[in-house]
Amino acid sequence: LVVLKNVNKHFGTLHVLQDIDLTIDRGEVVVVIGPSGSGKSTLCRTVNRLETIDSGSITIDGKPLPQEGKELARLRADVGMVFQSFNLFAHKTVLENVMLGQLKVRKTDKETAEKKARTHLDRVGVGSQADKYPAQLSGGQQQRVAIARALAMDPKVMLFDEPTSALDPEMINEVLEAMQQLARDGMTMVVVTHEMGFARSAANRVVFMADGRIVEEAVPDQFFNNPRSDRAKDFLSKIL
Ligand code: ATP
Ligand code: MG
Repeated sequence: LVVLKNVNKHFGTLHVLQDIDLTIDRGEVVVVIGPSGSGKSTLCRTVNRLETIDSGSITIDGKPLPQEGKELARLRADVGMVFQSFNLFAHKTVLENVMLGQLKVRKTDKETAEKKARTHLDRVGVGSQADKYPAQLSGGQQQRVAIARALAMDPKVMLFDEPTSALDPEMINEVLEAMQQLARDGMTMVVVTHEMGFARSAANRVVFMADGRIVEEAVPDQFFNNPRSDRAKDFLSKIL
């Protein structure tokens, strides 16, 4: 579904992505882990073109990423993204937040958009919050709204960049559970996270990055029990 071939990117003299080859199949859940600054966020951001690349190629469904305009807006709907910060519109209700992209980008009619918004809000367990404003919600609830908003666009793939790292501990699980459910429903997902429990139970594959490279790629069991590279061993010894 998503194919990166020999992708390179620099920030000035920093070679932030080096010869990245990565294929994400439909329905697959790929967890990306690695030390701070290894390029995980940048990698995610290239897939919906929040960052451009210097060389190599990225395709979705075999098509190269569009460069601009309506096509680019559609790409960003096809590639749902959930960040550490929730980025909800403060002056719009939860329901309006989840309807907005559907109306503007997908050109869905209002009635359908509202129905869909409510369906996805229910799905992540915040249906009863629909008429509130984001500030009236807990962090965990806001993050689930952000997930519902991305889902309402019928994305082909969902990217999560440390979706729980800004949350208080007691709210982390409710967000991870919503993501687990999504994974069980067959959503194609790329998840950058430090939640190793989630990686073990939800991932089909773990991708370990260091210094802008994919150092190791394996099924969770193999990666956590028997990492091959010294970098991965070192990383795991610090976080587990
Ligand atoms: P973390 O775990 O801390 O989120 P990360 O693996 O997501 O780290 P990135 O955010 O992708 O890492 O950043 C990789 C490197 O690129 C870092 O050294 C960072 O300082 C640098 N970087 C990121 N964005 C930019 C930018 N817009 N301009 C210049 N340098 C950047
Ligand atoms: Mg990051």
